[in-house]
Amino acid sequence: MFTAVEMAPRDPILGLNEQFAADTNPNKVNLGVGVYYDDNGKLPLLRCVQAVEEDMIKSPKARGYLPIDGIVAYDDAVKGLVFGPDSEPVKSGRVATIQGLGGTGGLKVGADFLKKLNPNAKVLISNPSWENHRALFTQAGFVVEEYPYYDAARRGIDFDGMLNALNAAPAGTIVVLHACCHNPTGYDIRADQWDQVVGAVKARNLVAFLDMAYQGFGYGIQEDGAAIGKFVAAGLNFFVSTSFSKSFSLYGERVGALSVLCENKDEAARVLSQLKIMIRTNYSNPPTHGGAVVAAVLSTPALRTLWEKELGEMRDRIKLMRHKLVDGLKAAGVKQDMSFITDQIGMFSYSGLSKDQMVRLRQEFGVYGTDTGRMCVAALNSKNIDYVCQSIAKVL
Ligand code: PMP
Repeated sequence: MFTAVEMAPRDPILGLNEQFAADTNPNKVNLGVGVYYDDNGKLPLLRCVQAVEEDMIKSPKARGYLPIDGIVAYDDAVKGLVFGPDSEPVKSGRVATIQGLGGTGGLKVGADFLKKLNPNAKVLISNPSWENHRALFTQAGFVVEEYPYYDAARRGIDFDGMLNALNAAPAGTIVVLHACCHNPTGYDIRADQWDQVVGAVKARNLVAFLDMAYQGFGYGIQEDGAAIGKFVAAGLNFFVSTSFSKSFSLYGERVGALSVLCENKDEAARVLSQLKIMIRTNYSNPPTHGGAVVAAVLSTPALRTLWEKELGEMRDRIKLMRHKLVDGLKAAGVKQDMSFITDQIGMFSYSGLSKDQMVRLRQEFGVYGTDTGRMCVAALNSKNIDYVCQSIAKVL
């Protein structure tokens, strides 16, 4: 039965992790991951999460099935985070939100729904983008193309190229946009550029799908959600996927969401009913634990305050590492201006290093990043930073 089945290519990041695990270099550093580590190189367990879990142990509960669209309090909390708790879309009930299996699950439910709604639409993703965007929308049955984004020569964004591509896209084209903290480059467009993107989406009748996997990792919860407000103000209907993997350090619990902003409450009810069919026929309903933890944190004022503090600490530590990286590279003798690293935002940095340099970093120094030059700044710490700077200086 399976004789004709071909071996699928290995996931590039997971392959890198395997290589890292097998590396015997005692100084090895894994910057290939998309994970936040604390200054001790450990995956944090947030105190707000621990507090909820301690309460759960004190009064353990049986676990029945959740509703298809997840925990009501969770979905409400997501709406509040994405649109603002007192915003018009939330108050008027025109947001359809489902609890998803991580941000990936939110994207997938949205992609499947869009495929039913508009089967011939094309999907545009940024060049480059999170590698799963292409795979996920292709798997959902779409033809996926790219809009220009990263400009290597200018160390920034080819915004004209991006805008031209949006302005040339046929009506109905689904445009996947990183709401904040662009993965993999670390370059976000400016507020005035968002205005132009919103204008193009509106003028060309495009379908915006905002992927918000890092809300709170850039400048703050509200600040990172600012692009959403611009789409709302323009009167557009659009999709937003949310991930709590990073912001709650709950990677393995698969907590995320999909929100669809509709024209009115009645439309939102109909859209929600269709999203529920996608879920019911795929995994039936979401798991309880992660959603319950996040809902409890977000709806308990003291825990919410604690979460925002802890999120702020992660955000600040990443920024500190960016500065240390720039200073450390200079101290290690790097002559070229590396200050672009502090212009970037979020967990990642497109370092500008070539594939050959990245391979040398791995082979000679045990410093692992992707071949594209992407490094996870959130995996740097006060113990490994000097070694990483010296290693980079040697390959530059
Ligand atoms: N979108 C982007 C841009 C991401 O970087 C990630 C996580 N690496 C996701 C979505 C998926 O998040 P999750 O792990 O919650 O599925």
